[in-house]
Amino acid sequence: MQDSDCIFCKIVRGEIPALRVWETDTCLAFLDVAPLARGHVLLIPKKHYRDICDIPADVLCSLTSQLPALAAAVVRATDATGLNLLQNTGRSSGQAVFHLHFHLIPRTESDGLGYRWNAGDYSAGQAEGVQSRILDELRH
Ligand code: 5GP
Ligand code: ZN
Repeated sequence: MQDSDCIFCKIVRGEIPALRVWETDTCLAFLDVAPLARGHVLLIPKKHYRDICDIPADVLCSLTSQLPALAAAVVRATDATGLNLLQNTGRSSGQAVFHLHFHLIPRTESDGLGYRWNAGDYSAGQAEGVQSRILDELRH
């Protein structure tokens, strides 16, 4: 399954260049062309799936099985001390390329990258309400 207009499908097919760092029969990792940090890598399935809600669980398991070795290599290769793993699903989350991908972003203490984490809270009963709705969805 491929999408003729998708940038990442074009990278898989070799129609546009990318600096590849890891490849199997089913997945590909390459440098992000506009990195948040030196060594920012994208891991994708070779088949076209839109996002985390679209990909079959077994394909996702195969894809994510690559993460421990890939993350460790990225951290070591960039002399990082940490790494953010990020997956955007949907335009409202910041997804711009609609072919599922994981960002591996190497981090150091003083990289200045920052992270906006505006933690909120729940009013009385609100958490239980959303818990109940998620439970209902998962029962279907
Ligand atoms: P998203 O916002 O969809 O989670 O992230 C898409 C990522 O793909 C961005 O970080 C962007 O820099 C990267 N990207 C977009 N087009 C290309 C491309 O043609 N080649 C590479 N290597 N990365 C790309
Ligand atoms: Zn695609």
